[in-house]
Amino acid sequence: MMIVMKDGATDQEIREVVDMIHSAGGENHMSRGEFKTIIGAIGDREKISQMPFEALSGVEKVIPIMKPYKLVSRQFKPESTIVEIGEAKLGSDQFVMIAGPCAIESEEQLIDAAREAKRLGVKILRGGAFKPRTSPYSFQGMGEEGLKLLALAREETGLPVVSEVMDPRHVEMVAGYVDMLQIGARNMQNFLLLKEIGLQPKPVLLKRGLSNTIEEMMMAAEYIVREGNKSVVLCERGIRTFETATRNTLDLSAVPMAKGNCHLPMIVDPSHATGNVKIIPALTKAAMAVGADGVMIEMHPSPKTALCDGEQSLDFSTFEHLMTDLKNLAPALGRLM
Ligand code: PEP
Ligand code: MN
Repeated sequence: MMIVMKDGATDQEIREVVDMIHSAGGENHMSRGEFKTIIGAIGDREKISQMPFEALSGVEKVIPIMKPYKLVSRQFKPESTIVEIGEAKLGSDQFVMIAGPCAIESEEQLIDAAREAKRLGVKILRGGAFKPRTSPYSFQGMGEEGLKLLALAREETGLPVVSEVMDPRHVEMVAGYVDMLQIGARNMQNFLLLKEIGLQPKPVLLKRGLSNTIEEMMMAAEYIVREGNKSVVLCERGIRTFETATRNTLDLSAVPMAKGNCHLPMIVDPSHATGNVKIIPALTKAAMAVGADGVMIEMHPSPKTALCDGEQSLDFSTFEHLMTDLKNLAPALGRLM
């Protein structure tokens, strides 16, 4: 439940509430705004709801949180969270472009893509070093060598970088190279990984699972935030449906649904959602229109020879056209690029 304090409640009055939460065996999560302090009480619902918070002098009202997620809910924190990474401000008016190859393949390939991304106004460079492939015989990524190249690309261009971590034992190592850690769709409910990533401070890009509901995605984010890391960005990347014309079905309704109930930023990945370069530009524009905080797009200097996801990787000229379209569209939708 949430305990809303009266305007100007004193530190002593706040302490009384916190003590009462602790005496019911619960944890408190403080949200201190300029005027209002809201204290989230989390723990055994039965016990906490029996405590007489309303009788304390500093308390204005007590509101039960109906959703199973608490810390990431807008009820708990009404204002949008902004996650800042370099020049990117995810969760603001800015429409943040994240782009780069599916997988890091070589220095030449990555630096080429990074320079083009920088030139066109991309704010964060992506590149996979640990690849979650369906087949164990497919290219699995360059591992730590790839991360070294990613760090080199950041040095060359000044762009912050994001890369996926698949193993809880790798979190510290990957965090040593990147500015943002990605949890892939297949690991959205790898709870040990979520907890591990919640214990370190780098921002997290949490991708929706292939067959997970919006609420399950929120619960996954709750795992991370609960451990202390509040910089989580959600990502809609398509879900499994009966439709086979596209790689997945892009659930654009997830964006306004999630953002209505949750204060975290949310981006769209039209590349994995569609698996088809022909429709990625249209869906990127649609993502901007439904209020996404940005997109993550796969691009490659030579999509035909890509070792991973070439069929959904934009070449430089298609990517440049898309950037021009987006820059034209942004003002009409009140977005900055
Ligand atoms: C990726 O972004 O590199 C990726 C593998 O995507 P997803 O986890 O959404 O399939
Ligand atoms: Mn990919």
